[in-house]
Amino acid sequence: MSIKHNTLAYAQQLDQQDPLAPMRAHFAIPKQANGRDEYYFTGNSLGLQPKLARAAVIELLDAWQTRGVKGHFEGDFPWLPYHEFLTEQAAAIVGALPEEVVMMNSLTANLHLMMVSFYQPNQQRSKILIEDHAFPSDHYAVTSQLKHHGISVEDNLLLWSPRAGEELLNYQDLWQIIEQHGDEIALILLPGVQYYTGQVLDMARITSAAHAKGIKVGFDLAHAAGNIELSLHEWQVDFACWCSYKYLNSGAGSVAGCFIHQRHVKNTELNRFAGWWGHDKSSRFNMDNNFQAIPSAEGWQLSNPPVLSLAAVRGAFDTIALAGGMPALRKKSLLLTQYLTQRLTAELSDKIRIITPNNPAERGCQLSLMVKLAGLDGKALFKALDENGVTTDWREPNVIRVAPVPLYNSFQDVYHFVNILKECLECR
Ligand SMILES: *Cc1c(COP(=O)(O)O)cnc(C)c1O
Repeated sequence: MSIKHNTLAYAQQLDQQDPLAPMRAHFAIPKQANGRDEYYFTGNSLGLQPKLARAAVIELLDAWQTRGVKGHFEGDFPWLPYHEFLTEQAAAIVGALPEEVVMMNSLTANLHLMMVSFYQPNQQRSKILIEDHAFPSDHYAVTSQLKHHGISVEDNLLLWSPRAGEELLNYQDLWQIIEQHGDEIALILLPGVQYYTGQVLDMARITSAAHAKGIKVGFDLAHAAGNIELSLHEWQVDFACWCSYKYLNSGAGSVAGCFIHQRHVKNTELNRFAGWWGHDKSSRFNMDNNFQAIPSAEGWQLSNPPVLSLAAVRGAFDTIALAGGMPALRKKSLLLTQYLTQRLTAELSDKIRIITPNNPAERGCQLSLMVKLAGLDGKALFKALDENGVTTDWREPNVIRVAPVPLYNSFQDVYHFVNILKECLECR
């Protein structure tokens, strides 16, 4: 007998069939006041804590406690090469070669370092193209780079905007900007997944269209890494940066990732802001002030890294590996978000519009929901959801971002979310 799709029993059946369901037990799930698990849908903002991350941090604290400075060289995970223990998994997550990837610094800091190398304005080419609703930090980074080069922001910052009355970015408009200004654009910096709408951009096509005009391309993968499958090497992307605390679950402000394509990593002609951790490892401690870059993405490192945070990243990456890596995560993610879409459409299509693309290839796990009710008090709705154990992310004036994360969210979470949202909207 088949179970009706609008029932809890159906959600339970989907959970039973889910090969990743046991992964939830590898995470600390925050509790509601009544002791039940929260319905946590904000993995797009801060991923939950993997138990392996906690264990790796404690292991590191213990090593520091017992070994002191010798911890740099001793133990299973000595600190001197600690970032190297993360490279292979980081590379697998973004579809890169190990030499193209390094975990270092934070996202915005890495964007600046990458622009030092890949934004080299000259008489002919000085413009940077971003999207109009870029995350503020990216916008500030780009405008401050223009100012740093003594270049007018007004004349050199190009914006790709959604059309009037639309939320999503339209490729026709991008191709037209590239066609019209291609010879003057030095750099295109775009998100892999747009943070507000959840729209996935076609990174391969954008890169090849830009390269055809001699433009460098970088991607901010804050909402893409750990969410969708990426092939940065194959797509020929020049550089990319991402944080590790959203879908990579490594803790607030934890160490970020950086990708530099293979064809650039040995190029010592590129401008770079250098530090001793980017210097050739065999002579790093000679202290002779003669900088020789490591011929890989590691050559962009500045400082000896915060190993406590790297430990959290290690535990988080091991958790993803345990689940079977990105292909396994994406497989469940498609089903989970599809289920959320179906439930919302069946129960709430008169009150909610999904602004995220409907095509699964053009979205990750996140759906951005626009509430259609006129005069709705957004803050009150957000609060009502919270009081009923649902953690979402509210954006003024009327958008709820919901991210069902394949590593720890269940089909039952989604079922309860839609019911609670419906109740909260009905009493509005
Ligand atoms: C989360 C996010 C950031 C945050 O930057 P930090 O340097 O990690 O504080 C920047 N850009 C985008 C697109 C983001 O989604």
